[in-house]
Amino acid sequence: MKKILVAILVLSLSTTGCATLERITSHKNVPTAPTAPTTPETASSDNDNLMLGNPSAATTSSSDSDNYLMVKPQYDLSYNNGKHEPNWVSWHLDSSDLGSAERQDDFRSDKTLPDGWDRVTSSTFSGSGFDRGHLCPSADRTSSASSNSATFLMTNMIPQSPHNNEITWESLEEYGRELVEAGNELFIIAGGYGKGGTGKKGYATTVGDGVVVPAYTWKIMVVLPNGSDDLNRISSSTRVIAVMMPNNQKVNSHPWSYYRVSVDSIESKTGYDFLSVVSASVQSAIESRVDKVSVS
Ligand code: MN
Ligand code: MN
Repeated sequence: MKKILVAILVLSLSTTGCATLERITSHKNVPTAPTAPTTPETASSDNDNLMLGNPSAATTSSSDSDNYLMVKPQYDLSYNNGKHEPNWVSWHLDSSDLGSAERQDDFRSDKTLPDGWDRVTSSTFSGSGFDRGHLCPSADRTSSASSNSATFLMTNMIPQSPHNNEITWESLEEYGRELVEAGNELFIIAGGYGKGGTGKKGYATTVGDGVVVPAYTWKIMVVLPNGSDDLNRISSSTRVIAVMMPNNQKVNSHPWSYYRVSVDSIESKTGYDFLSVVSASVQSAIESRVDKVSVS
């Protein structure tokens, strides 16, 4: 793994004085020696969480408040301050991510959001009838307690129907981990689309103080046999699994595989360009195909 240990100390000034927000993150298999930051999307970034491209051209400028790039060791995301949730979350998954760390369950606000932005808290979704639905799943980050804990930041959450989150979506997440256990590594990106879903208490367009309930949840998984130089191994025959499933309580009347679509269809709905660092000819082949592999 080429991922690096990053220790960032952010000093934030408030009107009452100087408050310190500390963000210290570590990653598996990396010694705790100081390491120089590297630039994402270089040849040395094999396995980078955003290796296949930044689909909405998110930036780290706080003026880009509806498409704000947040880079973490465990996943990268585009945050939408108007919707109070991520537009998408992107991560790499291989066997080194899967260990024996317990589920930390420490849902909490993300203090690395820019000053002055609303921070969704652990209780914002309470009583709404919607789950605090992880995009990067807790079970995809079990190499250490701190890695697992990072998935409980509320910037990784969308309001998800319980039957979506706990049944149909969960079974797709589990299928991805089975692919990893079978010797593959995955590049995954997921998000919500549209507005208005149905939870335990019926239909809603928002929860809490304006957190948008997506109408659909989508996910794209690029499947590669374990190896290095991943970008150059993606070809027109690479398996890509894409789904778009309704965020409602009837979604589980079908298995996750029923909801398979092409990447192109998700691109046309969301306006994003996925797998943008892959050559145009390969994108055109793998984005137009709907996965047909038989799954149980
Ligand atoms: Mn690799
Ligand atoms: Mn594309």
